[in-house]
Amino acid sequence: MFVYADNAATTCVSKTALEAMLPWLTTEWGNPSTLYGFGRHAAESLEEARRTVADCLGAANPREIYFTSCGSESDNQALNSCARAGARKGKKHLISTAFEHHAILHTLRKLEREGFEVTLLGVHDDGVVRVEDVAEAIREDTCCVSVMFANNEVGTVQPVAEIGALCREKGVVFHTDAVQAAGHLPIDVQAMHIDMLSLSGHKFHAPKGVGALYCRRNVPLYSFIEGGAQERGKRAGTENVAGIMALAAALKESCDRIPQDAPRVTAMRDRLIEGLSQIPHSRINGSLSHHVPGTVNLCFEGIEGESLLLLLDKEGICASSGSACASGSLDPSHVLLSLGIPHELAHGSLRLSIGEYNTDADVDHILEVVPRAVESLRAQSPIWAELEQGIKPHLC
Ligand SMILES: *Cc1c(COP(=O)(O)O)cnc(C)c1O
Repeated sequence: MFVYADNAATTCVSKTALEAMLPWLTTEWGNPSTLYGFGRHAAESLEEARRTVADCLGAANPREIYFTSCGSESDNQALNSCARAGARKGKKHLISTAFEHHAILHTLRKLEREGFEVTLLGVHDDGVVRVEDVAEAIREDTCCVSVMFANNEVGTVQPVAEIGALCREKGVVFHTDAVQAAGHLPIDVQAMHIDMLSLSGHKFHAPKGVGALYCRRNVPLYSFIEGGAQERGKRAGTENVAGIMALAAALKESCDRIPQDAPRVTAMRDRLIEGLSQIPHSRINGSLSHHVPGTVNLCFEGIEGESLLLLLDKEGICASSGSACASGSLDPSHVLLSLGIPHELAHGSLRLSIGEYNTDADVDHILEVVPRAVESLRAQSPIWAELEQGIKPHLC
């Protein structure tokens, strides 16, 4: 049996997305920047895709949507752009959180080296940032607040609308990394007072290598790739026409289906939680009341998350511990540590992220395999032996 339970890392390409892109890979391969009809058709279709994305996000105008190569690029452009605009006004302070994606954290670190000041807010143990903490951190010289919409490892959803209202009142640009939220949760950039928003196609069934950045009109946006006048001079480079068409079609389909899909996916996730939380000395990470539908993150005491993943892989289950981007390093996830989870426990983490394409049979298989795998790893674990003999206290 093959069970894909790593939808927070990437998702399969949907039939809708594939069909939307095929013409642009076969007969319609003209360059949208050309003047003849063959290219103009591509340019017109790009503008339709831009309108579709704008509508899905509640944006006032399609001109506020810029296509990029990925979520990371959108995040980089948003922060660098905010910083440059802020510096011109003598505002060189940025606020974000300790549990952002590395596309945000590493960009902030680079900006610090360039002389900007960064405040990283701590996250509460429920995995939710507090609006009061943001309010307290805002200063006269703050140019940007960037708080992710939903966390990619624990799935918790942040009070984006409240933070947006606060930033609007204070005159600070508010950016949100909505890569885990777009297509999965309702988003309305106007009602939520979002100035900039990043999304990525491959997290909602479009292919990898295409993303978008929403930037509200009157919020300055700088270009960081020099070249032609594509994307109204804000992002040079011949457009990934097929990818953009797929992104727009997949986003529309996912958003249209939220009312049906979210309850079904949530029900599957709840069954996972119910079953897996019966494993002794385990814990669920992050609040379940502010949550994306499909992601669940657990810690099992006395085992290594990586060893668990290998056992699951043998049984056909694709899952993750921490994020795909952070894997390969031996440090426990910065997200789990930011929630105050002790190192020893954070090492034994498992992220299961299910989606619209999963079935109840997939959930059954996971519920059958994971408890057995945890038990067999514990049977070989010297740390578990110490815990069981009372040499070390159990942490959960
Ligand atoms: C996946 C992800 C990204 C990066 O998107 P790419 O398109 O893979 O560059 C950024 N932020 C979050 C929260 C993500 O989950």
